[in-house]
Amino acid sequence: MNEKASISKELEAKHTKILEGLLKLPENRECADCRSKAPRWASVNLGIFICMQCSGIHRSLGVHISKVRSTTLDTWLPEQVAFMQSMGNERSNCYWEAELPPNFDRRGNQMFIRAKYEEKKWVSKNRTHPTPPLGGMRSIYCDSIETGPKSSISKKMRNFSLDEEILTKHVAKATPTVAKARGNSLDMKNHMIASAPPRGPSLVKEIDPSTKNTNGSPDLLKYVQDAKQDCSSVIPARWATFD
Ligand code: ZN
Repeated sequence: MNEKASISKELEAKHTKILEGLLKLPENRECADCRSKAPRWASVNLGIFICMQCSGIHRSLGVHISKVRSTTLDTWLPEQVAFMQSMGNERSNCYWEAELPPNFDRRGNQMFIRAKYEEKKWVSKNRTHPTPPLGGMRSIYCDSIETGPKSSISKKMRNFSLDEEILTKHVAKATPTVAKARGNSLDMKNHMIASAPPRGPSLVKEIDPSTKNTNGSPDLLKYVQDAKQDCSSVIPARWATFD
């Protein structure tokens, strides 16, 4: 059955509105790959907004690496929209461009994008992939975001829309330490960054290097699948099979 056939006009309008809102966030106003302004395309499994030119390159990578959708022309599934809300360009690049030298010349788009997502050339060696529990753990993976001049972004991300309220509650419940720490002093935050992700019903999975990439699918899918096990109550079951 075609899942998209079940997306009502109302839901579609809602999705469009959410996507428009995400595209207005400072972090999503530039293409995640080439930094050109006002991207209108997205990779729904990477959780990033990209320009039309880069979307063509993403398509050429194959859907096992990137699944491209138009933010204006395509019908989106609720879980795809939710994932875009939880990831976004900045968070994604914290992982994929962690080791990228500053001022790197991105103009050779195709080479750059292949190196970035196919060869995983600049992937963080020390950080786990940002699993998608909706913003709440940004500081653990992207500590520079919290301390840098862009800290307003994460603040903005915390002002979730109604749609995210339930998910946010769930995350807050599942990770009480992090939720609490975010309101505390810088010292506390640094402590949180330095320490391991919270235990218990944590949404964060440690990476087991031996299982990384064994099936050749993007890292993200694996972590999304991992996350799904922990978030099954809030995240739709079709999470990793975006189509
Ligand atoms: Zn681009």
